[in-house]
Amino acid sequence: MVWEWQRLAEHFEKGEGALITAAPDQRLLTHFPVDDAHVLVAADGAVLVTDSRYIEAAERDVRSMEILCPKNFNEEVAAWLARHEVSRLHVQAGHVSLSSFGWWKTVLPQVELVGDGALDGWLAALRTVKTPEQIEAIRRAQALTDEGFAYILERIEAGRTEREVALDLEFAMRRAGAEGMAFDCIVVAGENGSLPHGVPGDRVIRRGDLITMDFGAKLDGWHSDMTRTVAVGEVADWQREIYDTVLKAQEACLRGLKAGVTCAAGDALARDVIKAAGYGAYFGHGTGHGVGLQIHEAPSLSPRGGDRPLQVGEIVTVEPGIYLPGKGGVRIEDMVVITENGIDNLTKSPKNLIIL
Ligand code: ZN
Ligand code: ZN
Repeated sequence: MVWEWQRLAEHFEKGEGALITAAPDQRLLTHFPVDDAHVLVAADGAVLVTDSRYIEAAERDVRSMEILCPKNFNEEVAAWLARHEVSRLHVQAGHVSLSSFGWWKTVLPQVELVGDGALDGWLAALRTVKTPEQIEAIRRAQALTDEGFAYILERIEAGRTEREVALDLEFAMRRAGAEGMAFDCIVVAGENGSLPHGVPGDRVIRRGDLITMDFGAKLDGWHSDMTRTVAVGEVADWQREIYDTVLKAQEACLRGLKAGVTCAAGDALARDVIKAAGYGAYFGHGTGHGVGLQIHEAPSLSPRGGDRPLQVGEIVTVEPGIYLPGKGGVRIEDMVVITENGIDNLTKSPKNLIIL
């Protein structure tokens, strides 16, 4: 078995190493729910530097690297790097704050710290293409999310608030086995539906509302992400029109995505349908994003995604929407694995307009 840290170390020149500070990247390398720790990687070894709060669990569960529980942090970290002949240490430029960069300089005066973004790029590349095991982990997280949707359909009715529905949704996913939410559940009703990332509040659901729910479970560190819009009681013509348009756009994108399609072209697959229907001005965000150890990660399916081609094994969302200020909105989001000839859709919930 080749561990992720070994694949990372392939990028090092002689004498180089890396300091990993971002928790999702630490989890990728350690296969352990790291909190408040550090991971050091050299060409010939890697170590999780933790403390007494986590040491028992780490010693039981971490297989991929050494574990260090230092009494004198500065000395023992410097000694580990010296033992592995690291004199140049890459840090995560996109994550390390200026103050902690200054602190590390005082901790490791003998070591040159490099914050040129190279490490960020190597880690991103390690994370975008998922292994079969990682895809299965995300598939399980999405299965819990689909369960949450089936449950919540029974619990939406006029008179309940957005907040109550959001709480029920979270409860259902936690009870089904989620370790947490992938992000705070979004439940927006009626005119609030025009806020793509609105926060569930005291708005009471009424007959004639569209309800948009964007939610996902987290399982073993892996995230899932889906959105459905449902109707309560009755549906006006304008509501059905935007629903059908978004669904058509989403399905067109799902049909067209496959390895080699560029991020910008993937975005256009959905966007062109919405534009052609006259709603282009009401679809402000990108069509999708990568999902993995973080809820939003590369690649980005958006007009700014450029000519970067999608690769086999990448997981992206497909989530076009139409948002009419003061009136309401619709978004439909699935999560898919890119394959050679198309996609493997991890989201199994129905997409016909459900009227509750
Ligand atoms: Zn979402
Ligand atoms: Zn999303």
